[in-house]
Amino acid sequence: ESASRIPEQLVPTHCCFCGVQCGMNIKVQEGRVIGVEARDFPHNRGSLCPKGVVAYQQVEHPDRLRYPMMRRGKGQPLQRVSWDEALSYIVQRWQELQDRYGRNSIALYSGSSMTNEKCYAMGKFARAVLGTRHVDYNGRLCMSSAAVSYAQALGIDRCPFPMTDIPLTKCLLVVGSNMGECFPVMMQWVWRARDNGAALIVLDPRETPLARTADLWLPVRPGTDIAVLNAILRQIIHDGLVDEEYVRNRTHGWEEVKALVEEYTPERAQELSGVPASRILAAARLYGRADPSMILHARGIEHSTHGVNTCLACINLALARGQLGKPGGGSGMITGQGNGQGGREMGQKANQLPGYRHIDVPEHRQYTASVWGIPVDELPWEGAAAPEMIHLMAKGEIKSCMVACSNLMVSLPDNRVVQQALNNLELLIVVDFFLSETAELADVVLPCSVWVEDEGTTTNLEGRVIKTNKAADPPGEAKHDWVILVELARRLGKEQIFSYASPLDIWNELRLATKGGIADYSGITWEKIDRQGGVFWPCPTEDHPGTPRLHTERFGHPDGKARMFPIPFQPPVEEPGENFPFRLTTGRVVYHYLSGTQTRRIGFLNSQAPEPWVEIHPQAASKLGITHNEVVRLRTPRGSMQLKALLAPSIRPDTLFVPYHYGHEQAINQLTVQAVEPTVKIPEFKACVARIEKLDTP
Ligand code: SF4
Repeated sequence: ESASRIPEQLVPTHCCFCGVQCGMNIKVQEGRVIGVEARDFPHNRGSLCPKGVVAYQQVEHPDRLRYPMMRRGKGQPLQRVSWDEALSYIVQRWQELQDRYGRNSIALYSGSSMTNEKCYAMGKFARAVLGTRHVDYNGRLCMSSAAVSYAQALGIDRCPFPMTDIPLTKCLLVVGSNMGECFPVMMQWVWRARDNGAALIVLDPRETPLARTADLWLPVRPGTDIAVLNAILRQIIHDGLVDEEYVRNRTHGWEEVKALVEEYTPERAQELSGVPASRILAAARLYGRADPSMILHARGIEHSTHGVNTCLACINLALARGQLGKPGGGSGMITGQGNGQGGREMGQKANQLPGYRHIDVPEHRQYTASVWGIPVDELPWEGAAAPEMIHLMAKGEIKSCMVACSNLMVSLPDNRVVQQALNNLELLIVVDFFLSETAELADVVLPCSVWVEDEGTTTNLEGRVIKTNKAADPPGEAKHDWVILVELARRLGKEQIFSYASPLDIWNELRLATKGGIADYSGITWEKIDRQGGVFWPCPTEDHPGTPRLHTERFGHPDGKARMFPIPFQPPVEEPGENFPFRLTTGRVVYHYLSGTQTRRIGFLNSQAPEPWVEIHPQAASKLGITHNEVVRLRTPRGSMQLKALLAPSIRPDTLFVPYHYGHEQAINQLTVQAVEPTVKIPEFKACVARIEKLDTP
């Protein structure tokens, strides 16, 4: 249809399906979205991947939610109701619950794929309108570990360089990223680097499409990357390749790091990680002799109980080589979710206020309260991080949760526990545009807009603030998420502090709320975004051009110096043994996005990956008598599920891989472990124990 029809209008916007946020035009005819075309934008240069090309097909999907729904009692079916009935019911129940159990009996859990304006509104609504401390977002499950490590080490949580720096590097070390499938359009920058002669090293338990093209693949056991990174640093020290002057002038903590890594000989690292010592040595020499050199990492190391430490070990390497702040050099995270970067800067995170202000710092609280027009003593303190919220729901301390554009039932680990917690709530409200697995459990479902129906901004994985434009109206009675919040605030008697007529109103307040913060948006205007092809924060004044590359002279800490931390190896939370001899790791495939709520509904994408599978090495399969495509039982200490075995020589023989985009009995998070990183509470998705059984095994 889209190819044969001539659009009346092309609306410039950005793809919603990953942190690259490729530029695209939405084709519109008679007010309807009929297709997309790639747009030349600095970070995608006219390219789109398979998801981007068909993303528009969800807009008019028959499953779109078009009117509010409610249950007339637990166990009753969801039935169509008016907005007035739905919102009145929510407000009445919230007031009852807060009167009886206190204001923290309500929680708000939101997604990060929404615009910055919506993310900002979510955080403010929770804290200023509901007065609850319990607000968190799904980035907690995604890359909160990377965020904290960059803030700790460098003082700023942002990828320190633009993608256009990648071709400038002489060596790219990719740690835990299946970039070719998860960020396909980003690969053009890697190919340019390769064309320019850059070496490529990939650290991953699977020989991913990217690893297959690398000079060196380091097949690491899931959860043991720190041993390899420390051993590389040790070898760099022994080879005299540390940038001593940089380390002396621009960092703290080097001596402690240097002392710690000495025990990580290549042989010891081999024992801990399974990577041959010879490859570790070769990697140290390739990476250590290149200048500039760049590290990119993603969920493979971040989705882990050691996520913060593994990112810090990457940063140690880059600092030791004097690379941060240099064109083509450094260490950076590849943010996954559509607006994963902006979403974590807007104050919908348990411990943060807009602009990365901290909820525990008195001056930060005072400033935010003044922008919001509330007394500072009414601003709640830090609340529960997402996994902790689930425990508070299960314990009955949180009585109601509003979930906005996120699908906990697929995305949180050990999701049988999640279901019990959600069922324990007195009032579960889901704001979404499809009936996700989480919405299926809700007492009230409120239909909202998808990305092409929204105007506003997002921030891509580079820290580039970009503009999204509205191409169509939400279907039926569906409303923009921010409008739903405004209407709820009015019914709660808070219109004086939460009244917006447009996303631009929210944007202008957001600019003020971030002013003077680390993520300072105050100098960014929508007009400037259009003129410059996006604006990198920090951008403190309207005549400031933005900041594509960070740390050129100073790091973000008050003394301008970076921090290095000694990072000892610790094993994953579960270790294989006789009963469960494999390590199970989970991840993404090119055809799906996050919990699959959107992409499983798009015909082409679903046809390419309609169900999950378990990847197993042919040698391991042969020992178990398992053949390609045979349905097997995958078991972990949490339970079991059936799925097809895919024999893949590209995976380590002691490791299994399952994609996580599926719901109900196909959700791999039925089986993953309930364990979180101790400081940021990111769950462990990348290393638990498992075994595979033939179906006729009793
Ligand atoms: Fe969309 Fe990411 Fe694909 Fe670009 S690379 S088209 S942003 S999914």
